[in-house]
Amino acid sequence: MFTEYDLIPISALQHFAFCERQCGLIHLEGAWAENRLTVEGKQLHERADSDETEVRGDLRIARGLRIRSLKHGLVGRADVVEFYRDEAPGAVELEGVDGRWRPIPIEYKRGRVKFNSIDEVQICAQALCLEEMLGSVIEGGFLFYGKTRRRHPVTFSPTLRHATTDCVERIRVAMASGKTPHARYQKKCDRCSLYELCLPKAIEQSQQVREYLDRSVQDQPPHDPG
Ligand code: SF4
Repeated sequence: MFTEYDLIPISALQHFAFCERQCGLIHLEGAWAENRLTVEGKQLHERADSDETEVRGDLRIARGLRIRSLKHGLVGRADVVEFYRDEAPGAVELEGVDGRWRPIPIEYKRGRVKFNSIDEVQICAQALCLEEMLGSVIEGGFLFYGKTRRRHPVTFSPTLRHATTDCVERIRVAMASGKTPHARYQKKCDRCSLYELCLPKAIEQSQQVREYLDRSVQDQPPHDPG
């Protein structure tokens, strides 16, 4: 079990998958900057982060729910968790509310469905937190994409659960090192909100110069004092 001080923000999973240096800059060095993509993401999350519960008959919609798992060492917020009145296994009791309810997490994403699985890993991390907090098993959830305004179902399979805990472990090791990885310019840097803080092209060039100088010094024959 982890303590409150050891918890990794669920948002770090996205940052780490996008770029390990970006993850280090944000979560080790406290850097942050906005660009068009992050602003669009914020706008999409505005309602989802509103910290309110809406009731529509046998459906309760919790927005901006604070979640955490001491078992997996995670903390964050779930954009939306829908609770459906249900007596089936997996349904849970909610404090101060009659009946049993089946939780389904929904994560909001800008853009459209992507071919990498990091969005699925992120919502699976939310499900791991909710399972621990609610004492239930959550079989699936949805990713809602702002561009298409459609829900994409996600099953929390053993494979996805393993990929999620593996990703969390890799972040934990990277964070424990306390070192932000060096910059390496890649095409995706052009989409990165931290570009102006990271300066990947300039930093990479200075690293190459330093490596060249180090090699030159090593290749020099030993100095003959006589
Ligand atoms: S600019 Fe590139 S190297 Fe720097 S943090 Fe962003 S993605 Fe990573």
